[in-house]
Amino acid sequence: MEKILIVDDSVVQATQLKKILEDEYEITVAQTPIDGLRYASENGDFSLILMDVVMPGMDGFMLLKKLQEEVVTRQTPVILITSLSDIESEQCGLMLGAVDYIAKPFHPMIVKARVQTHIKLYKYRRQVEYQSMTDQLTGIANRRRHDRYSEMKWQEAVRLQAPFSICMFDIDKFKVYNDTFGHPAGDRVIAEVARVAAEHLRRSTDFLARYGGEEFVAFLMGDSSEKAFAHLKRIRQAIEDLQMPHNPEVSKWVTVSIGGVTVVPQLGDDYSTYLKIADAMLYDAKRFGRNCVVWADEKMKQQRER
Ligand code: GH3
Ligand code: MG
Ligand code: MG
Repeated sequence: MEKILIVDDSVVQATQLKKILEDEYEITVAQTPIDGLRYASENGDFSLILMDVVMPGMDGFMLLKKLQEEVVTRQTPVILITSLSDIESEQCGLMLGAVDYIAKPFHPMIVKARVQTHIKLYKYRRQVEYQSMTDQLTGIANRRRHDRYSEMKWQEAVRLQAPFSICMFDIDKFKVYNDTFGHPAGDRVIAEVARVAAEHLRRSTDFLARYGGEEFVAFLMGDSSEKAFAHLKRIRQAIEDLQMPHNPEVSKWVTVSIGGVTVVPQLGDDYSTYLKIADAMLYDAKRFGRNCVVWADEKMKQQRER
């Protein structure tokens, strides 16, 4: 069921709206703009926000502006509800980014129809957006989603003071693989590596993306460097255990090298700085003979698999 947030200081009106919509949607009601803003930003998964324009403390226009400023709520469509059925406030709301306007007193059927239309549009947009951020070959996130998501999660780790691990992996001697078995076979290997890695990164706080041709980036939240390092070693092993034959001149099986870093990020720290450290660790893993994991722990001390 799609979720709708109703922000309205009038209990009567909120209840009325809820009744009209609750058969088809999961409804949350906020009685003040402050609560509305909090609910919307804390669980940014509302498909639509219906809000009254006239409320004490902060009017709907102000709330709308604040919602537009926050990353998590920026995309959520807002329908304004008001008795100020004059052209000016309608214009103001639409200029601020509201998708629609419903004037009081409202007709249940009209409310239903408009809500349905905007939810449909929102779902469609979400789907298109999702596709544009998904890698076609592997079905995992592409670099674009990585760029967008990593910043968000990094800020969250700063706020929560949670350990954040970034790792990069890269298929070993993959040029030789392509030259030996052909590009389509190479594509299948990339997809297999992604599948195995994704199987090992299933927690809601885990993230995996195809960063480039045969390069992946993953991040994990909440684990100590010791745990993250151990986990990535298991992933490396699982890929080797697939026993995908490589060109015997370079290696028996297809393998990956992995570099990573764990840090409790502080305000002012840059994600990209640590991504570079993970990349440097990957470079070292290649230097140390490939098919291994190299990690920089919280004290930036290097740990090697072997
Ligand atoms: P190293 O162990 O140092 O990583 O060696 P490598 O050969 O894997 O590294 P290099 O960066 O020289 O080559 C990467 C190769 O990956 C080159 C390119 O042909 C191949 N590649 C990149 N993207 C794709 C892809 O989408 N499909 C296939 N099949 N091959 C790809
Ligand atoms: Mg590479
Ligand atoms: Mg490679």
